[in-house]
Amino acid sequence: MVTILDRTNLSNAAPLAPADEKRVRHPEKAHKPDTEVLRKPEWIRVKAPTSKGYHETRELVRSHKLVTVCEEAGCPNIGECWDKKHATFMIMGEICTRACAFCNVATGKPNALDLDEPENVAKAVRQMGLQHVVITSVDRDDLADGGAEHFEKVIWAIRAASPQTTIEILTPDFLKKPGALERVVAAKPDVFNHNMETVPGNYLTVRPGARYFHSVRLLQRVKELDPTMFTKSGIMVGLGEERNEVLQLMDDLRTADVDFLTIGQYLQPTRKHHKVERFVTPEEFKSYEDIAYTKGFLMVSSSPLTRSSHHAGDDFARLKAAREKLVAKV
Ligand code: SF4
Repeated sequence: MVTILDRTNLSNAAPLAPADEKRVRHPEKAHKPDTEVLRKPEWIRVKAPTSKGYHETRELVRSHKLVTVCEEAGCPNIGECWDKKHATFMIMGEICTRACAFCNVATGKPNALDLDEPENVAKAVRQMGLQHVVITSVDRDDLADGGAEHFEKVIWAIRAASPQTTIEILTPDFLKKPGALERVVAAKPDVFNHNMETVPGNYLTVRPGARYFHSVRLLQRVKELDPTMFTKSGIMVGLGEERNEVLQLMDDLRTADVDFLTIGQYLQPTRKHHKVERFVTPEEFKSYEDIAYTKGFLMVSSSPLTRSSHHAGDDFARLKAAREKLVAKV
């Protein structure tokens, strides 16, 4: 576990002034009292990454000056994913304009967009021979289009360099950015993911910069714009939500015709972040999965270590197969 004195990882970024190099990762949380940290149950523990594949992926990420959410969010699956050469690229920098209570990505004023990034991401995807790639980003409320054009350029660059690679995007909510969503959908990613993160009752404390119904509507709008596009969303549990609230959220997502739901355990990045209220048991995750399937999701991944990009390539193949099966039945 890192502490609030953790500094931003600027190893991949352009050299900055000495004052910037000392920037604290979460200045908005510095005044907050430390929260109690619960001991992790045995089903949540993961080994430190050491494999050859992990180090090769790390080297590729560094050499292309890329940022990954795997590192920035301190994902517990990094050893397993990077060993299999599966990383989730985070575009538009490593500084986010929002300050969600659960997230370890640094908050602050972002740097200018890197215009070479679309090509660099595309080169890394080709070099890694990825069949499926997940692209996410920080929130860029500072940009007039929320970063929609940059998403579009990254999708186009990957398509040009690796036409066989399927592309999954995990986007911000483009709140108050008219036309942004339409632009990203028009670039035709294969999967459009936008995470709800938590139940509506938690939004003010967990995701204060976002609006629950805006996020539901965003997912619904993707399907209206392109009914063939797969949509996906995810939440974390263990943030104090009630079971009934999770079931209501499932209904809301089905109303928006979302195809794929992911549910994973929230893990606290530092003592200044939102507390883990409890560790949800593997049996409860299984129960959520069963219920979600009865509500009509094409795919559900629900387990303590589920993350929205975990096994995304395999899951995409299963998602396509599930749709084909459904269509064959009708
Ligand atoms: S689950 Fe996603 S974020 Fe975590 S290491 Fe794997 S690819 Fe990266």
